[in-house]
Amino acid sequence: MTVSDSITITTESPEETQRLGRCLGPGLRSGDVIALHGDLGAGKTCFVQGLAHGMEVTGRVSSPTFIIMRRHNPGQGDVSLYHVDAYRLVSGDELWEMGIEDWLYNGVVVIEWAELVAEALPQDHLDVKIDMQDTHREFRFVAHGTRSRQIVEYLQRCRF
Ligand code: ADP
Ligand code: MG
Repeated sequence: MTVSDSITITTESPEETQRLGRCLGPGLRSGDVIALHGDLGAGKTCFVQGLAHGMEVTGRVSSPTFIIMRRHNPGQGDVSLYHVDAYRLVSGDELWEMGIEDWLYNGVVVIEWAELVAEALPQDHLDVKIDMQDTHREFRFVAHGTRSRQIVEYLQRCRF
């Protein structure tokens, strides 16, 4: 079986973007890093809202712009969601100072504006590049290692 490193999925509405995130949620586990790239309004937070739903974590998801990171505790399972907004970070070092290493023990880390901290991310992470057109959004998922390739495979089986 061949395993590809990437998959591109187009969504036509915010609801569809949330469904895409929700579909991916159950396929994630502690230690996974999801790096979101896309301009303001691309749908990063919208996608994370779906992801949180799919992971069955608690709390309302909004951009953690000022607090940088918001933790969503597990409702059912045992995986937390650490939602980071890197927009106001000066360098990726700050992520390590904040304790990203600890977060990865019991949770998934999803990062908005990940390009600003790219050098600090674990090598095996999943990039999600969101291209914004009118109401369409093109989500390109790119794997950088064994684990993120498994996530791409999981997405290939998603029917959302
Ligand atoms: P970001 O976090 O990337 O800045 P948000 O998720 O907060 O973006 O906002 C995305 C905006 O784009 C919302 O206002 C949403 O209603 C709108 N939108 C329109 N079409 C889509 C789509 N296909 N997917 C996601 N959001 C969309
Ligand atoms: Mg946002």
